[in-house]
Amino acid sequence: MSHIVVVGAGLAGVRTVQALRREGSGASVTLVGDELHPPYDRPPLSKDLLLGKSEPDDVRLLDDAGLAGLEAQLRLGVSATALDTDRRVVTLSSGEALRYDELVIATGARARQLPHGESGTPAGLHVLRSLEDAMALRDAFAEGPRVAVIGGGVIGCEVASSASMLGLPVVIIDSLPVLMQRVVGDVVAERVAALHRGAGVELRLGATVAGVDTEGGRVRGVRLATGEVVPADVVVVGIGAVPNVEWLEGSGLTLDDGVVSDEFLAAVGVDGVHVVGDVARWHHLGYGEAVRAEHWTAATEHATAVAKTLTGTPTSVAEIPYAWTDQHGRRFQIAGHVRPGDEVVFVVDEAGPPVKFLALVGSGGEQHAAVSIGAAPLFVKERMKMRRGEATWPPEAR
Ligand code: FAD
Repeated sequence: MSHIVVVGAGLAGVRTVQALRREGSGASVTLVGDELHPPYDRPPLSKDLLLGKSEPDDVRLLDDAGLAGLEAQLRLGVSATALDTDRRVVTLSSGEALRYDELVIATGARARQLPHGESGTPAGLHVLRSLEDAMALRDAFAEGPRVAVIGGGVIGCEVASSASMLGLPVVIIDSLPVLMQRVVGDVVAERVAALHRGAGVELRLGATVAGVDTEGGRVRGVRLATGEVVPADVVVVGIGAVPNVEWLEGSGLTLDDGVVSDEFLAAVGVDGVHVVGDVARWHHLGYGEAVRAEHWTAATEHATAVAKTLTGTPTSVAEIPYAWTDQHGRRFQIAGHVRPGDEVVFVVDEAGPPVKFLALVGSGGEQHAAVSIGAAPLFVKERMKMRRGEATWPPEAR
């Protein structure tokens, strides 16, 4: 019987094993994960879990029966430390050598940290990636602190939104002039900023962070390049994620902001290795370039495709990217990929409250993205058009 080893027991790893079984794979499967918890879902961490509407048990990806249904050997609390692609062996932190016929790398990403200096992490300084991070932040929020969020990306905006919904004074600091610019582009980013301002979040945009100010081992604020200190009792760093690839160094895999793979998510240059989820930088046939996504939906699409490939039906992933984010009780939905210099047309535009819009984004005869709040049915239609390749630009032309 062939042996499939899946390293990383997060969304992409677990969904891969589920999909293998769904596709009828009878292989023996080992799922290795360095976290001790049963596999869990990350989107609720910055939302319902921080808000106290969910508990750790609620965010599990599978209950005990579901885990048993994977018919996999679960190795939790163990990390993969090295890979030998010639011998097809993964070395574990326990010292074991795990032989595989097929390997699926699903090690995700971790929160990028600010340099802390030699005195270690001061009390009150947080990131948000894991269940522990979320519980620590929830405990810190319970003390009623002034909160500063460094980074106005999706995670930073979600944390700020949850803090503000809990009634905490919160400021977002970012060197860019707008929020979530990379994901939604400049024009829609103005709407994101308006939503936050309307909810009472202070925005310090275009401000460069010089460091975190501490006193007696606790944070006391965020120091800006101008010398000003923005006072805070809790500082949350949301400056992006770094793919977990260190254990693969020297393995012969191509590492470049993730594990480089082809359109089938097969790691380039070696046999028997596929990559799924946040750690995958794969060749997207639709875009004709290598991309890495940090979205829930991409991780599940990867898992399904790799399971099909491993059970005899080679399947590539070239979906239009899709992500959502919940902020101040509103759901943003984003399909596609906004590019610098794109034009924006608002098909729906209601100032509210509640604010409601559907923005189409594109240039050069091609629609690149659709972003919406509160216009889900129309958004879904646009997403389908983009998937079918029928979304031309400008939108009036079709
Ligand atoms: P991960 O979930 O990171 O899982 C990887 C697992 O591998 C982890 O358990 C890790 O500890 C483990 N691992 C790492 N290295 C090793 C090793 N060497 N050996 C063994 N195990 C290892 N996406 C959306 O589309 N919408 C949202 O609203 C949204 N909200 C989010 C909120 C938060 C707070 C976060 C952090 C992410 C959010 N995302 C959201 C993104 C989404 O959760 C990720 O895209 C998804 O979790 C990726 O799954 P993954 O399995 O690739 O990686």
